[in-house]
Amino acid sequence: MLLNACEHLTLGNHAKRNRMKAAVLEYVQQPLTIKDVPTPTIGDQDVLIRVHACGVCHTDLHIADGLLSSFATNPFPLIPGHEVAGTVEAVGARVDHLKPGDRVGAYWWFGCGRCRCCLSGQEQACITSQSDLRAAGLTLDGGYAEYMKVPAAYAMRLPAELDFVVAAPFFCAGLTMYAALKNSGLRAGQRAVVVGIGGLGHLAIQIARAFGAEVVAVTSTDEKCELAKQLGAHHVVSATDGSVGKQLLDLGGGDVVLSTTLDFQTIREVMRGLSPLGTLVLTGMTPGRLPLDPRTFILGQQRVIGINFGSRQDLHEVLQFAFRHNIHPMVETYPLEEINTVHQRLKKNEVRFRAVVTPQSE
Ligand SMILES: [Zn+2]
Ligand SMILES: [Zn+2]
Repeated sequence: MLLNACEHLTLGNHAKRNRMKAAVLEYVQQPLTIKDVPTPTIGDQDVLIRVHACGVCHTDLHIADGLLSSFATNPFPLIPGHEVAGTVEAVGARVDHLKPGDRVGAYWWFGCGRCRCCLSGQEQACITSQSDLRAAGLTLDGGYAEYMKVPAAYAMRLPAELDFVVAAPFFCAGLTMYAALKNSGLRAGQRAVVVGIGGLGHLAIQIARAFGAEVVAVTSTDEKCELAKQLGAHHVVSATDGSVGKQLLDLGGGDVVLSTTLDFQTIREVMRGLSPLGTLVLTGMTPGRLPLDPRTFILGQQRVIGINFGSRQDLHEVLQFAFRHNIHPMVETYPLEEINTVHQRLKKNEVRFRAVVTPQSE
């Protein structure tokens, strides 16, 4: 039988789709291994995503370090990765709102759908997640692979204007920063302080500016001062000499202080720079106890809130917000095979500012 070029290509993809390349974490405290593994099989209500880009989040390092040991789960061997953008490769029999070729990304945290948080659209706070965590890239296979499956309801369409590599970091880093600033109640004309200029903070500067805020960046890395200004910060404060709180008060104090750092000492210091009626938002998962003086918080009517990431609604909003306000992550791209190099760079704080792997680069 003679086949034309197009048919050859179709057969080739079908043959290839049974197996795929993936970066697998066999167990904690080990490097990832690039392996040939079965492509996920999808159920009636799933989609298979061809992964063009997957951002590398600090949480991926935490997983490799054993973060999940506190949950009653042993997901290993695991394919990490939860900042996924790509195209729909196949849809389940009962999926009628997506079709092969559609550009999507994956919301990756699957709530129970029944608790009061899920029912109010806040499944990122799902009560059952504490004991039964179901999240792609954390306890279920994620996006360090050529293909990944998700329930179709969690495949979010990408604005046509966003490239895959640009879109991917919004699925955790951008989402978290958007949800943090939205939930802080930040309004135009207020002063937002972004603490820690990395994968999250460099997006927070841009998002806060798009909210109409005066933006102060706090960093302990000299080289990042100029970068923070290029990203849109109106002021940059150095966190190296222990006077951050005073420096922030000299600028008038922060209506919102958004902390992305894992440096606990810096968090303690920036708290002093919070304005009356101000909100401190914590997003960096770091252990420690904050010195909260009730009198200061009562007299100043201040708040402290924690944000893990955001809801599907927040994700929809931030994707639209990103292209409308021309918000761009600064990315370094790598082939999937270099994932261990990426993890090492992230550990050493060398990534500027988000690393993205491209399992399907064509
Ligand atoms: Zn993440
Ligand atoms: Zn729930």
